[in-house]
Amino acid sequence: MPALTAISELIKRSAADAGFDAAGIAPVRDFPELDYFPGWIEKHYAGDMHYLESRTESGELKRSSLSHVAPWARSVIVCAINYNTDQPNSVGPGARSPEPKAHGWISRYAWSKEDYHDSVLRRLRQVEAELKRDSDCRTWCYVDTGPLVERVYAKYAGVGWVGKNTCIMNQKLGSWLFLGVILTSHELEPDLPAPDRCGTCTACLDACPTNAFIGPYQLDATRCISYLTIEKRGDIPEDLRAGMGRHIFGCDICQDVCPWNRRAPTTALPEFQPRDGLVNPALEWLAEMRVEEFRERFRGSPIKRTKFSGLRRNTAIAMGNSGERRFIPILEKLATDEDETVASHARWALQKLRDLLTC
Ligand code: SF4
Ligand code: SF4
Repeated sequence: MPALTAISELIKRSAADAGFDAAGIAPVRDFPELDYFPGWIEKHYAGDMHYLESRTESGELKRSSLSHVAPWARSVIVCAINYNTDQPNSVGPGARSPEPKAHGWISRYAWSKEDYHDSVLRRLRQVEAELKRDSDCRTWCYVDTGPLVERVYAKYAGVGWVGKNTCIMNQKLGSWLFLGVILTSHELEPDLPAPDRCGTCTACLDACPTNAFIGPYQLDATRCISYLTIEKRGDIPEDLRAGMGRHIFGCDICQDVCPWNRRAPTTALPEFQPRDGLVNPALEWLAEMRVEEFRERFRGSPIKRTKFSGLRRNTAIAMGNSGERRFIPILEKLATDEDETVASHARWALQKLRDLLTC
């Protein structure tokens, strides 16, 4: 077996030993899928996610080419781990029935007991150590934070194709995957890119409640509920609030409706099992939460990212969309909250609720 192939095989084995469900190797190239990126940034589809706009000293967008930030990198190892647990979906046949109107929705990836950045990085370090055992190659490891569009490298590493919903889809695992990447100066034997298996399906595009897709494979993040509930600070545009439904943190709709997720396997890993109360969380609980409880309950959780103010703002919108009369007194209280963002969204929610109840 040629040495190059042997190293590639060793990496795949060590990724499996570290607990990853899939792993592959992509060459470092300016893939055609990256051509969209400068135009996408220019059209402000990234909204307030300014980290995506970071540039080199010479003004080039870092994420548009690895040659801008890591000219020494020759290969990218992409590892994926399944975080799907045996819990209901947010919509469709796998959802709780009847729809729990008094309950919100937190994205599946954010339920876990341990912050996935930590658990994925720990495993990546294991693979990195194996790679460096007999080689002095240079490496950088990332979970979400790297200067590269991870899903494009995941495609060229054969881990999965980029679905029309812009998520990485694996034929056997579906799309409930955390990705971790290792950039290395080692020239490794690349895998074949994963073929696109979306076919004529448009289920994800049709299901999006805020029309966030510009078209297949292209997202206007500023309309996406994940962006609105997590990244957006302050006011959420009024025309998008009704479409947010009961979403408190993130959105899984375009993955829940994907046929490739119908038989997605589940994981028994303890760190990915949900914390108490986060699957279909009670809106009342979230609206009445104190800042001390927020800090305590979401310590080490991605949910911290939306901040206390964001969580309460999102809860107010979900209450407004619920059609539940019993939320009126809670919203009346929130409408006078000292946090003006929370208060103004609660006033919107009160009006929305009254409109729903009088129709
Ligand atoms: S995550 Fe939700 S809002 Fe965002 S594109 Fe998918 S369905 Fe639309
Ligand atoms: S729902 Fe259909 S179009 Fe969307 S990612 Fe899944 S297979 Fe592709």
